[in-house]
Amino acid sequence: MAIPLMRTSPWIEVRNSKIHGKGVFAAKRIPKGTRIIEYIGERISHKEADDRYADHDPNDNHTFLFIVDRKTVIDGGRKANAARYINHSCNGNCESAIAERRVFIDAVRDIAKGEELGYDYEIGRDKNDPPNVDEIYACRCGSPKCRGTMLWPAKRPVKKKKAKKKVAAKTAVKKTSKKTKVSKKKKGKRVASRR
Ligand SMILES: [Zn+2]
Repeated sequence: MAIPLMRTSPWIEVRNSKIHGKGVFAAKRIPKGTRIIEYIGERISHKEADDRYADHDPNDNHTFLFIVDRKTVIDGGRKANAARYINHSCNGNCESAIAERRVFIDAVRDIAKGEELGYDYEIGRDKNDPPNVDEIYACRCGSPKCRGTMLWPAKRPVKKKKAKKKVAAKTAVKKTSKKTKVSKKKKGKRVASRR
């Protein structure tokens, strides 16, 4: 049985965010594990996405493309819903999940009313990235665990050796936890618009 379309959500409201442009906030307390909303937009091929945003200003970090798999990208700039306004966070209260070749945003912990939703975009690095790519995709999520960039992996080790170790451990955990769900390459990568 197909998962019903989740175009709107009673859990959220969109308003201005301190992090970045518009954001999505909990309209009421959201229990851990809640499937909050579906990430909806026009489903296109990778090539279409590349062509569509070929003229995109490389210094603009607005990106609404979401990779579903090798074939499909969801363009949250067209035929979209509020999910596209959920900002990146290095230590988010949400995560993206792919099911039935669709993308959903799930709560990974209890979220208080009024809290801004966020998940890790894990934007993949690309050999064609401009040298200032970390500036363009600088993260200001405000989390104590902020790695300073929306890109993954963090190219530059964060601060001291200790921090480096922590990052490595986190990566290992992530890898195993993802295997069951979705490979790293698929997840949350919003890359095409900066080519
Ligand atoms: Zn951050």
